[in-house]
Amino acid sequence: MNLALLLARAAASFGDRPAVSEGVDVRLDYAGFARAAAGFAAGLADDYGLRPGDRVALAMSNSWEFMPCLLGCWWGGFAAVPVNAKLHPREIAWILGNAGARVCVVTPDLADGLIDLPATIATLDRVLVTETPEIAALFCHAGAAAPAAVASGDLAWLFYTSGTTGRPKGAMLSHATLLNMVMNYFGDVDAVSPGDCILHCAPMSHGSGLYGLPHVAKAANQVVPASGGFDPGEWIDLVGRWPGASCFFAPTMVNRLVAHEGIGRVRIDHVKTIVYGGGPMYVADMKAALARLGPCFAQIYGQGEAPMTITGLPKWLHVDDGRTGFDARLGSVGLARTDVEVRIVGPDDRPLPPGEAGEVAVRGPIVMSGYWRNEAATADALRGGWLHTGDVGRFDDQGYLTLLDRSKDLIISGGSNIYPREVEEVLLTHPDVAEVSVIGRPHADWGEEVVAVVVPRTGARLDPRSLDALCLERIARFKRPKDYLVVDALPKNNYGKVLKTELRRQLNGAD
Ligand code: AMP
Repeated sequence: MNLALLLARAAASFGDRPAVSEGVDVRLDYAGFARAAAGFAAGLADDYGLRPGDRVALAMSNSWEFMPCLLGCWWGGFAAVPVNAKLHPREIAWILGNAGARVCVVTPDLADGLIDLPATIATLDRVLVTETPEIAALFCHAGAAAPAAVASGDLAWLFYTSGTTGRPKGAMLSHATLLNMVMNYFGDVDAVSPGDCILHCAPMSHGSGLYGLPHVAKAANQVVPASGGFDPGEWIDLVGRWPGASCFFAPTMVNRLVAHEGIGRVRIDHVKTIVYGGGPMYVADMKAALARLGPCFAQIYGQGEAPMTITGLPKWLHVDDGRTGFDARLGSVGLARTDVEVRIVGPDDRPLPPGEAGEVAVRGPIVMSGYWRNEAATADALRGGWLHTGDVGRFDDQGYLTLLDRSKDLIISGGSNIYPREVEEVLLTHPDVAEVSVIGRPHADWGEEVVAVVVPRTGARLDPRSLDALCLERIARFKRPKDYLVVDALPKNNYGKVLKTELRRQLNGAD
């Protein structure tokens, strides 16, 4: 089934309901949303020659146009490639080239860095900028037809994850995968109905956009804050305007909201569900959030390779029922989702019993089909038919999964993933750097912050400002180290591999 059918049906049954809003202003009702998506699809086919299966990149900051473009891709049978708007233009260019995108839609704030890409990316014919007459014309293109016929296994969303090897990999999510994700939302998180809304405060290229889909299926309003991001004061005002509000938050966003001076003003009766995940949430922080806002929180644990999600802690398990183990439950990532198999495996891939720590492995219909044009990485990640997440965890005997570590040394800062290797590769191009290791340091607001530990070349005097300038030139700002520590040598094992665990212990006092 084509995911665009969710929209076509919502438009048929609830055409006059608000569908896409910018702040307090409704931009499209469901009939208009479907017309815009159908027009976008027809326009890309007629004007730019796109055919089913072609890739359309969406390098967009959160904006109301994102949903019509996303659904429009599927309406035409194209695959969408939503790209994190915070990436450096060079990183975005690499993704577009790897995906073989034919068209890229960008928001005006990103246009300068990307508009000339067709000159250097062979497959890319066109960069379209939102808020221009060109996009407006596409949304009302004549010749709009019914959603294209697609096979369930056809590619719907190419989800680029930060790569452990320094390059992102495209997790292939099919129409069937995302339809399962939609059903999982209804099954394990929440029911949705017209009159509800989702407030898109987190990046729509990631979890928030994915969770837009169950809300399309049930004709709920997609509200994009006018700021395009998360401003706690604005969020509180929007909740006042829109009842039945749900949203997807990174843990840092929950903490920022709870600490905000206006928290007492929140219309709690308008808050339906705050889904949080993407990084660890500490028990004390969750308790503070529950005390302020009540049991409106649901946790999810997943990754781009198995979206939204592998396990979850639903709202009713956030209620202290007096049974022992409430803190452990809040500190866990919950129970396996209804139709997902989860197990813990040892280094030999054999399953381990509850209580033992190992890698989290997953099997089920929400697992990606593989990595785009990367057979080696696919074979490794999906070996034996199970997705190997790279996360280390442990089940208790009641089925709660607790994450202990990330075996891939991933740093999560403010909900964004940073793979150290990407930053290390850049710093190693500096002529005065002999060796470098990048690690995460605990940070009260961001969860973790990036720190680079650098060994200078013999006789060289390292200036952190020049390292910072190099990062600014090459990678997204959020990946840039907040601190550069110059040392004589890095701790290493017998094979010469840097011991990050030891380094973290030295730096943080604990690991
Ligand atoms: P992404 O692919 O960007 O969604 O990042 C996925 C990674 O974020 C996972 O492999 C975990 O390491 C981490 N993660 C996701 N959800 C949670 C959670 N609820 N608690 C702790 N870590 C999480």
